[in-house]
Amino acid sequence: MGDIPPFFHSFEHDEPFHTCLTCEQAFHKIDAPYTVTKVFKGPECVFEYGMCLPCRKNMADSFSEESRQRITAFFEGSPNLALRSEEIGHSQNHEDWIKNCATCRTPLTEVIDYSVACMGFGSNMIFDPFPMMVCSDCEQKVQEHLSKSTREQWDKFILDNFDGPPADALKPDGVPILV
Ligand SMILES: [Zn+2]
Ligand SMILES: [Zn+2]
Repeated sequence: MGDIPPFFHSFEHDEPFHTCLTCEQAFHKIDAPYTVTKVFKGPECVFEYGMCLPCRKNMADSFSEESRQRITAFFEGSPNLALRSEEIGHSQNHEDWIKNCATCRTPLTEVIDYSVACMGFGSNMIFDPFPMMVCSDCEQKVQEHLSKSTREQWDKFILDNFDGPPADALKPDGVPILV
């Protein structure tokens, strides 16, 4: 374990994520890990949030079973997750973990749009399989198969949790598979 690096802090508030987006509990008070998810469009981070694991599970449970299976199958069907665990399992440098797409292995330097996620517990980072980067090509492959109800759930999640009009990344077809 190591500290959460600034890359996974809130860019908007320029400090670590302290509370869950959904239940608003403080991460240092809950006895559960949490994830920080960020969506990049080119160099710009268009979307970021921290969420505790119980809330993350609730959100996943709101997706249709078919959609959940698609997402799970996508990751389980990728031999690269086990491979990267062998290759960089010893590393506690987040850059090693996000330097290639977790599923297709395209280098981050050749990727334009992508999502990243890390897992934390208190102020510490938990490694393997997180942190992860997934390129937009891989995300689209999964997204185009997600059900209408899952897209609607995602839409609702955005409306419930974020103020203002959703950016491109937040539109219903933008369901991040690294939620
Ligand atoms: Zn929560
Ligand atoms: Zn990819």
